[in-house]
Amino acid sequence: MIHYKTEEEIELLRENNQLVSKTLAEVGKHIKPGVTTLELDRIAEEFIRDHGAIPGFLGYNGFPNSLCISVNEQVVHGIPSDRQVLQEGDMVSVDCGTVMKGFYGDSAYTFAVGEVAPDVRRLMDITKEALHKGVAQVRVGNRIGDISNAVQEHAEKNGFSVVRELVGHGLGRNMHESPEVPNYGAKGRGPLLKEGLVICIEPMINLGSRYVVFERDGWTVRTRDRKPSAHYEFAVAVTKHGADVLTTFECIENK
Ligand code: MG
Ligand code: MG
Repeated sequence: MIHYKTEEEIELLRENNQLVSKTLAEVGKHIKPGVTTLELDRIAEEFIRDHGAIPGFLGYNGFPNSLCISVNEQVVHGIPSDRQVLQEGDMVSVDCGTVMKGFYGDSAYTFAVGEVAPDVRRLMDITKEALHKGVAQVRVGNRIGDISNAVQEHAEKNGFSVVRELVGHGLGRNMHESPEVPNYGAKGRGPLLKEGLVICIEPMINLGSRYVVFERDGWTVRTRDRKPSAHYEFAVAVTKHGADVLTTFECIENK
């Protein structure tokens, strides 16, 4: 069942997703060679609590931390660790969630650690562009498949591949609501976009093949060929005026 949100509920979702954006910006300031992913997790948890929210991922289905941090070939759901030290040239996807006033925030950003290889930089750029291509399809009367197709087309025409096993989702009083928002699919298919729908669009794009492996830690998803994978995520509301993006990357990119 799809829960459509009132304008007031959308404002609460905006508050959460703006806090997630600010948390990602705060974490981004500390991403450099030598930092451990567990240190980044602690920074995020403190920042979220200092702003009156609770980390949305902590304890979610038993997840042990506040951030999912996925380095290089890790696609998503990486568990922060004091043994994982970031190195110059790494690429790191940071996924963050909050809960405040009964609603969730959920957004992700992929950071470069120092200077990354040109093909990795291009993967990051194309994945972010694919997210924006998806957002551009958000309007009343379009369908989920229009978003999915725009993301897939942009990734594949640039020579990259789309992860199929994990998808975007509705967002609200639950972190994962209907409908699913795949990053692949056919135009004109899937649920209709109606006013009040709030979804997370989150392309996971691989440099090599699309296939992934679920690690035995029960969480981490990595590419089968161990080539890098990038991930960006926005929460977006469907309004009668079009897409209302509840997340912002401005605080990350204009720091
Ligand atoms: Mg997320
Ligand atoms: Mg999500």
